[in-house]
Amino acid sequence: QSTFSTPVTVSLIEGDGIGVEITESVKRIFAKAGAPIIWEDCDVGPIIKNNNTAIPDKAVASIKKNKVALKGPLATPIGKGHRSLNLTLRQTFGLFANLRPAASIQGYDFLYKDIDFVVVRENTEGEYFGVEHQINDDNVVSIKLITSKASEKVIKFAIDQAAKIDRKKVVVVTQETVQPKTDGLFKKTGESLASYNKDIEIEFELLETYIYNSVKDPKKYHDYVVVAPNLYGDIITDLNSGLAVGSLGMTPSANIGTDVSIFEAVHGSAPDIAGKDLANPSAMLFAGCMLLEHVGLGEYSEKIKKAALATIAEGIKTGDLKGKSSNTEYTNAIIAKL
Ligand code: ATP
Ligand code: MG
Repeated sequence: QSTFSTPVTVSLIEGDGIGVEITESVKRIFAKAGAPIIWEDCDVGPIIKNNNTAIPDKAVASIKKNKVALKGPLATPIGKGHRSLNLTLRQTFGLFANLRPAASIQGYDFLYKDIDFVVVRENTEGEYFGVEHQINDDNVVSIKLITSKASEKVIKFAIDQAAKIDRKKVVVVTQETVQPKTDGLFKKTGESLASYNKDIEIEFELLETYIYNSVKDPKKYHDYVVVAPNLYGDIITDLNSGLAVGSLGMTPSANIGTDVSIFEAVHGSAPDIAGKDLANPSAMLFAGCMLLEHVGLGEYSEKIKKAALATIAEGIKTGDLKGKSSNTEYTNAIIAKL
């Protein structure tokens, strides 16, 4: 990755619904931690250009210049001509990999304890290529695109990530028994990368086997980075959030591109609790921590994560974690620790 000099300017997309509240919390906590970040407010629209959803030029320029953005949840406007904004962002900036860790938290016992998944999802193709055809009223087809180029990029990223976080194995998950051409190519690409990094072993698992094992024996994957095509990755990562954490309010993700990376909470805009000071800002906060690590400011990330997790362990937590605190109370408690 390219090097960043401090202070690091970050494009900040506050997003919709609870986005405003959780962004405010992140800004306050980062300031208290002394993280050398300059926020550049960035409005991503959307606008319609050539009959398609597009991001305003000013926002594109900001993100291209800064190379890193922190993004709140974006509600997808309902109506003709609106592709999802999230998809638009991925395509605009070539964000080929989605990195999603999901780990158990102390002080909030869920179904399982001590879970620690790291999953990399292909972010640009597969079923999300988005081409469906209506043959007639009763028959439809969908086109799933897999290219060796995108597969290689994402599997290499998973291997690099494994090396970076000290995991020994990468497991490539596909259903190549059912989709021998598309999933077969993804798997074959993984096989061709067997000697890309001699310290990391590459294994292969069928999706059905992986799903079964991940629920039955989740600890098996502590030593792995999991990598999968788009749709499988989407399902696996949500499953992991449910298994490990039990709240979308805790799960961050990173959308990685060659030049630009965008960090975000995985949850939506949560219109049901927006404006009520009830949202858990942790997912956005931890996305900010992934950003800090990405730009070489890992020490601030550690400090912030430690303060947030200690706050939760003490029982100061929001409703999604069965706590009674408001977002503001939780945020203030983290700030007090810092
Ligand atoms: P969108 O259309 O933007 O995706 P949504 O209606 O699908 O919004 P989500 O944001 O995906 O809603 O959230 C699903 C559920 O999880 C909602 O009940 C919401 O309140 C809850 N939730 C999501 N994020 C948080 C959070 N950060 N803190 C607390 N609860 C949350
Ligand atoms: Mg949603």
